[in-house]
Order: sequence, then C-alpha cells, then structure tokens
Amino acid sequence: RLADWQRGLRAEFPIIAKNPGLAYLDSAATTQKPAAVLDAVTGFLTTDNANVGRGSYPWATSTTARIDAARDRVRCAMGDDGTDSSVEFVSGASQGLRAVAEEWLADRLADGDEIIAPFGDHQANLRPWLDLRDRLAARGVRIAVVPMPVDPASGDYDHRALPSVVTSRTRFVAVTHVHHVFGADMNVHRVREVVGPDVPICLDAAQSVGHRPVSVADLDVDFVVFSGHKMLALPGVGAVWARNSRGPRFTLGGWAGTPNTAGVVSMAAAFDWLDRAGLADIQAWTTALCVRLTDGLSRMPGVRVLGCQDSLAADSPVQRREGIVTFRHTRVRSDDLGFVLADEGIMVRADSHCQAGRDARDRAVRVSVHVYNTPEEIDRVLAVVSRCEGMGS
Ligand code: PMP
Repeated sequence: RLADWQRGLRAEFPIIAKNPGLAYLDSAATTQKPAAVLDAVTGFLTTDNANVGRGSYPWATSTTARIDAARDRVRCAMGDDGTDSSVEFVSGASQGLRAVAEEWLADRLADGDEIIAPFGDHQANLRPWLDLRDRLAARGVRIAVVPMPVDPASGDYDHRALPSVVTSRTRFVAVTHVHHVFGADMNVHRVREVVGPDVPICLDAAQSVGHRPVSVADLDVDFVVFSGHKMLALPGVGAVWARNSRGPRFTLGGWAGTPNTAGVVSMAAAFDWLDRAGLADIQAWTTALCVRLTDGLSRMPGVRVLGCQDSLAADSPVQRREGIVTFRHTRVRSDDLGFVLADEGIMVRADSHCQAGRDARDRAVRVSVHVYNTPEEIDRVLAVVSRCEGMGS
C-alpha cells in the first residue's frame, strides 16, 4: 500500500520525473519541490502579486491576506490553536535562530544568567547564543552558555546529566529536534520535564518540520524555527513560531521590511501538500529507508555508521534515524566516496556538515531522504559502497 502511495507522490516532483537515472539523496541540505508548490508560486506571481500591507487596491489586499493565511497555516502545521502565539517569517532557520537571540532574548538577560545550548549540533543553533554572550560581555553583562549534555550511548541529549547543568540562573534553553548529521530524534519533550515550566525552550526544527508531524503541544517548547527549503518550499524563507505565555510577543522589530512573499506562499502550499500526503506516512517511509541503509552498511566490515558520538560501533543496536544516515569508511576517504557515488548519478553530501566543533578532518558521507526516494536508490548506494570495500589501502 505504501509503495503505491509513494509512487504517486514521487511522480509529483518534476525534477525527479525528468531525471529517472539520478538519485537525489541530499534532502537534509535542501528538498525538491512538488508541482503543487511551484504552481502556487506561479499562480501568485501571475495573478495578484503585490507588496504586503502597503496598499488598498485589490492585489495588495489579497497579497496581505495570503501572508496572513500562511501565518495561520504555520500555526495549524504546529498543532497550535492560535490563541497564544505569533508567527514571523524570516529568511530561514539560521536567521530565525539569530532573530530569537537578538530580538527576544538579548533584552531579557542580566549579569550572571545562563543559557543551555547544544555544542554538537548545527552551527546555526550555537553561533547566535555565543555571539549574544560576546555582545553582552562587551557591555559588561556576563552570561554563560552551558553545553547541553549528550549521552554517548544513545546520541540523545543526556537527561540524567541535564539536572546538573540546570541552575536557578538558567534563563533559556536551545535544542535541536532532529540532528542534521546523525538523524537522531533528540527527545526534546524530556528537556521540559527537567527544566521546569518557566524556562523558555527554543527548538531548531530545520530537519523535522515537513518531514514528520510536529506538535507544539506535545513538545511543550516556546519557539519553533525552521526553513522553507528543507520542507519542499522555496529557499530564502523560513518561520519562527513563538508561544507568548512565557514572555511578551516575539516580533521582528528591526528587520520587518518586505517579506519573501513568493516564498511564504510556497511554504503554505508545501504544508497543504504535506498534509494531503500524510506526514506520519512520510515519516514511516523515510525511517524505513534509513533502516534499509543502516542494515546494509552495518554488514560491511569497513563501514561505520555514525551515532551522535563517534564511539558508537557499527554493530551497536541501530538507532531509529529520521531520514538521515551518516557513515564513514575506515579505508576510503569520504570525499572519494562522494565522487564515486556522484559518478553513478547518486547525489549525497560528503564533507564536515556544518557541525559545531568539527572541522574538515571530520568528513563523512551523509545520505538523507524524503518521500520521493525509493528502496532501489538505497540499494544503489549500498552496491557502490560495497564495491568500494576493495578500494583504498
Ligand atoms: N539547523 C539545522 C539542524 C540544519 O540542518 C540547518 C541547515 N543545514 C540549519 C539549522 C540552517 O538552516 P538554513 O541554512 O536554511 O538557514
């Protein structure tokens, strides 16, 4: 049943349909777009394109209505009833996280306060907090950015160690929903249990929104930040959803110019498409592809599938991976593997993955999938990597 459902959806992606021999396996970097999203953008730009809130003529009011409707669409996608939240459109997750730091958090910190942040996740979810610390220090306000503890066995945040870093001065916690290298679900709902009801939690959901159901009620977080281009919409647009009960409304004071209207329209259309396709089924499909890949790779003696800490052995119990699997070969360099795969028409990412605290020596091959990928594409990766077993020295 799922296979028929997937075949139909795959056919809705023009770039995939036009390139039957190619396997696009780099969706954690950016996703492909279904025709419905492209049509929505063309429809807007060829029907009633105007600026937002800037005129009283029909195109201006309908563009404003489209953007307001998209805000409600984001709320709905977050499982939020809209009574106590705000949605701001930004250029993507990087700008969104920085906006939360600069536009919301900066004025709410005092000397001696502490922030907990992930030091092993994407740079975009660490730099804004470190830069804020440095900017405040220049004004004589010293705050500490404390690393979120990680459990080396599971790759998850370490909830047992977390109470030892939470103090009466903890004012804010930044976490990631799905890790962009390891594909691990970081179980953020447990962070709330430890930090208590009053500390705002900001979720980097760049790798989860549009890939699986995301519910702010279940996660009990205060900010959700994500990028349109990673959820089947256009690049250059993203959103910050904010709950307001734990603080005043989040608004982009300084930078509220013309938003990326076409991008916002694409995001609303992508949420509609994802709802129709069914996010729970999409998650089931992509995690099954990851199981197929990790199972195959685990059988190859020279290959190590990375867990959140590199100490995870290839034969350790396979973690559930959310659309992303990263591995390294003990004898073949990851960039060479990337080139060999590219030669076979297989597009993966082989580098150091913007992971905070890592450099170019930490290259690894990342395979990441969305609903348009197939088991046959995974088998092609496995065939190439197993051939490479004979390469190297
Ligand atoms: N957070 C995570 C977990 C990511 O994977 C990415 C993109 N790789 C970002 C933040 C930044 O997203 P963007 O480049 O769209 O700003």
